[in-house]
Amino acid sequence: MFKKLVILLVLVYLPAMLIMMTGCEEEQAPKVTFERKDSYISTPPKRITYKSPITYSSPKPLKSSPMDRFGVPADWIPPHGIERKWTAIVLHHSASLTGSASVFDDFHRNQYGWEGVGYDFVIGNGHGSGDGEVEVTFRWTRQKTGAHCKTSRNNWANEKAVGICLVGNFNNTRPTPAQMAAAVKLVKYIQNRYNIPNSRVYGHNTTPFAVTKTDCPGKLFPMSRLKGML
Ligand SMILES: [Zn+2]
Repeated sequence: MFKKLVILLVLVYLPAMLIMMTGCEEEQAPKVTFERKDSYISTPPKRITYKSPITYSSPKPLKSSPMDRFGVPADWIPPHGIERKWTAIVLHHSASLTGSASVFDDFHRNQYGWEGVGYDFVIGNGHGSGDGEVEVTFRWTRQKTGAHCKTSRNNWANEKAVGICLVGNFNNTRPTPAQMAAAVKLVKYIQNRYNIPNSRVYGHNTTPFAVTKTDCPGKLFPMSRLKGML
């Protein structure tokens, strides 16, 4: 009998007492919180972006500058009121494998102490700027005296000739077809605007009264072919 009483006490009474002492187990149970979930919703984990260690040196896409009604890029047209009377065109090569107007601007500024890039136009070869991309420099947009071909006779070439540089070393290679096409279009535009004959389209090395002896625009530069395309 006593044994039964003890079992009853253990099985029924003690748990009942415990419940009374501690209250409802359900109430006492710690609330399930979803902190992780909540914080996940408010601040999603950062996406893991995969960065390829390989950088591709594909040529920059050609900038498409707006054209005027004759199909001439708008930035080729000199600002009204400050336009100079240009009488010749001098062609150069950069004598480098790569380049762009900003690269030459930096170089001419820092190495030579010039105001900036010496050319009016730079035609890219796909390395540093687009293949056949024509970049217009401040020399042209502000109609400034160039710094591309020093000559005796009042520095006439820098004062009167438009300086165009094609990126490349044409002692070793030739201009790309896209560069040639761009050069033809640009030279033709300048010729038409200022009534410049082919005989006044020079390479740097054949510019009358040039001070510096140079092979620019390079031994392989196809000057006669270019003139045949004008
Ligand atoms: Zn030159």
